[in-house]
Amino acid sequence: MGPLARRLKGQSSVETRSAILDLIRSSGRVSRIELSERSGLTEATISKIVRSLLLDGLVVEAGYGDSTGGKRPVLLTLNTDSRYALGISLDAQHIVYVVSDVSGRAVHKMTTEGTGTSKPPDVVKRIASELGRLLRRNKIERSDIIGIGIAGAGRLDSSGGVLRSSRKASEWEDFAVEDALSDASALPVILDNDANCAALGEFWSGRVPATRDFATVYMATGIGCGIVINGDIYRGASSNVGEIGHMILEANGPECWCGSRGCLEMLAAPAIVVQRARQNAALADRLDIADEHIDVRRAFTRIGKAAAAGDEDAASLVAEAAMYLSKAVLGVVNMLDIDTLFLGGPGFAEAGDIYLQTVRRELDTFAFMRSVHPVSVEMSAVGPEAAALGAASVVLHSHLTPHHASVRRAPHTRTESTR
Ligand SMILES: [Zn+2]
Repeated sequence: MGPLARRLKGQSSVETRSAILDLIRSSGRVSRIELSERSGLTEATISKIVRSLLLDGLVVEAGYGDSTGGKRPVLLTLNTDSRYALGISLDAQHIVYVVSDVSGRAVHKMTTEGTGTSKPPDVVKRIASELGRLLRRNKIERSDIIGIGIAGAGRLDSSGGVLRSSRKASEWEDFAVEDALSDASALPVILDNDANCAALGEFWSGRVPATRDFATVYMATGIGCGIVINGDIYRGASSNVGEIGHMILEANGPECWCGSRGCLEMLAAPAIVVQRARQNAALADRLDIADEHIDVRRAFTRIGKAAAAGDEDAASLVAEAAMYLSKAVLGVVNMLDIDTLFLGGPGFAEAGDIYLQTVRRELDTFAFMRSVHPVSVEMSAVGPEAAALGAASVVLHSHLTPHHASVRRAPHTRTESTR
């Protein structure tokens, strides 16, 4: 009996069906015989499941494989246009919308004004109307949308999946965005942490095999880490896993808003890099970021661009932040013994290469298991839209492959709008 068959022993037919659908998804194109070999299920069981997936339009036949003596086998693949998922990332500066097909590929994108200081109910009303526009413009029927995923940031409450305010109290803290948007859009809505979303997006896009454990480091305003183990997000006791932003790198370092000292976020988050750049008057003038009215995101973008273009002052500030980040990543890798890591999120948009090279060098030099296996570090394939596309993947993951079953479902889920 194969590992999948062992796991599915005694499971319902719905779970078995979703496991086979997931196997087809992660294989790209695959024959019934290969499905039987990989899952350990009999060919008769596979035939029955495939027939129902074909009937539902989730899977289509896609040519023939190589003959192994007899008839050439028919290959199966996901019917990528059969359904869509919507992913939204909420942010004070931008709201990013992504429509993804069933394979997790972004087919339409839209960016609109951020949540700013608007009241949450007004933002939800606007999102519902912008969603309608996005669907109409791209001729997508609402009935073909499986659901909406929202990527938020902050601390999850273990009782009800509430995203608690991280940095400051905000109106979003006590607002049930999941329910409100579900009412306004007439679609099911799932909220999840942005780093988890980004990691699941990587997994769902098929870039990582279902058997490979990996982590995605996500940087926006703060820094988080989504961890995928056995093809599913690792959630710990309360879904507050991967808070590497609060990994302590200097025992007596600067005070952090979390109550501790010397956390990664206080040494390397974009706001800290911007603060340091402002202390260098010549650099701040050169990049036109001296004015405090220029928000952190915009100032950090300018520093990143300058660093990537070879401005030595800007590059050394980014290099310092990258050094701290690489120390935290080393801790994660040593703890989990993973061999695959991605960097994603808007924080890496401009100077991603500096971060990438620094993290690679750190792991090549210091990872405890470096003589046993290398650790591959790549930029996330989904770039700055990682969280929105990932949020769409969370929907696909929970609806199409519920055998993984750990996607958090909470009746009253709230978010705040900044990581
Ligand atoms: Zn902290």
